[in-house]
Amino acid sequence: MPSLLIRNVRPMGASPVDVLVRDGRIAKAGAALSAPTDATVEEGGGALLLPGLVEGHTHLDKTLWGMDWYRNEVGTKLIDKIENERAFRHASGHDAAAQSLVLAKAFLARGTTRLRTHVDVDTQAGLRHLEGTLRTRQTLRDLLQIQVVAFPQSGLLGRPGTAELLGQALAQGADVLGGLDPCAIDGDPVRSLDVLFGIADRHQRPLDIHLHEPGAMGAFSLDLILQRTEALGMQGKVAVSHGFCLGDLAERERDALLARMARLGVVLVTSAPPSRSVPPLMACRKAGVTVLGGNDGIRDTWSPYGNPDMLERAMLIGMRYNLRRDDELDVALDTVTHAGARGCGFEAYGLDAGCRADLVLVDAQTVAEAVVARPVRRLVVAGGCVVARNGVLQAEVASL
Ligand SMILES: [Zn+2]
Repeated sequence: MPSLLIRNVRPMGASPVDVLVRDGRIAKAGAALSAPTDATVEEGGGALLLPGLVEGHTHLDKTLWGMDWYRNEVGTKLIDKIENERAFRHASGHDAAAQSLVLAKAFLARGTTRLRTHVDVDTQAGLRHLEGTLRTRQTLRDLLQIQVVAFPQSGLLGRPGTAELLGQALAQGADVLGGLDPCAIDGDPVRSLDVLFGIADRHQRPLDIHLHEPGAMGAFSLDLILQRTEALGMQGKVAVSHGFCLGDLAERERDALLARMARLGVVLVTSAPPSRSVPPLMACRKAGVTVLGGNDGIRDTWSPYGNPDMLERAMLIGMRYNLRRDDELDVALDTVTHAGARGCGFEAYGLDAGCRADLVLVDAQTVAEAVVARPVRRLVVAGGCVVARNGVLQAEVASL
């Protein structure tokens, strides 16, 4: 791989430097670096330089991105959406391999270079969606780092055979074990979480649990999750997605849970939906809990919303939490950069020498401006390769 020298960029808005990339890594940054003889030189033009963006929670396998508009006439209950989706995917022949690739490329064009996706595993589709998503992970392996979560979207206990399928999914290449509302969906939180943590323990894999349950119900489940995290020595290996209950609880009860989460290294993932209670971002961070951002589903049978642009997600997080000051907008960006990488366990992340060369150039004066204006990505470098210019994928990447 030839070296790459990017001239005149401002890392996170700091003074201009040149950045040298060698063997897919950041070799060094400094003023007026001399170009190695084999180097391709890119002119940065004083652009703001960000590290590759991180999507902490999406569902690549479900998306209808690029397909005909889906007329959403789905019921309001969670179980309506679950049943509707499973029936739609079964009847329509929706192809998780093709669709996950289309959406993953759209993420890449907008500067996302690391991504965690939850993939449905159920007794109707078996491992079909997982196999399709693993194919996309393989196709883009040198560019977009994809973590795959084996996710029991239809519940763990209600459909016998699901637990065994989850174990098979981990054996076939899923990185993380997923979970879902042990009270509201499974109706037996102790047994549900015992089974789930048992699978994670047997396969020695991290967990990422969707917890939509509100108020006292969610707090009860979260307590059980924290008990098992501690008992099994899974400190630093558990994520709670959504955690809406943390936005409902009285401050004292909430802070006691946050203190335990911080001690056990349990991270929170939020899409910051405007329609639900959300965990208090600043209180979580103050307690020492890592909060990362994600879209959740993008244009699927669940929701017509979503966009594979993590600067937009950072803006929506900023709006949901009323972040206005520049230092607060830095926090919004952090949820889709460093906190995202830390929370998912992506390694060699950032703009320091030695990090994987995942770089995003945008025309903005500051990080805050980049979050609110979401400028077109002038240049995206992934694993040391230029993959997109001005929001358009390079032909060799588009044709993968
Ligand atoms: Zn989700």
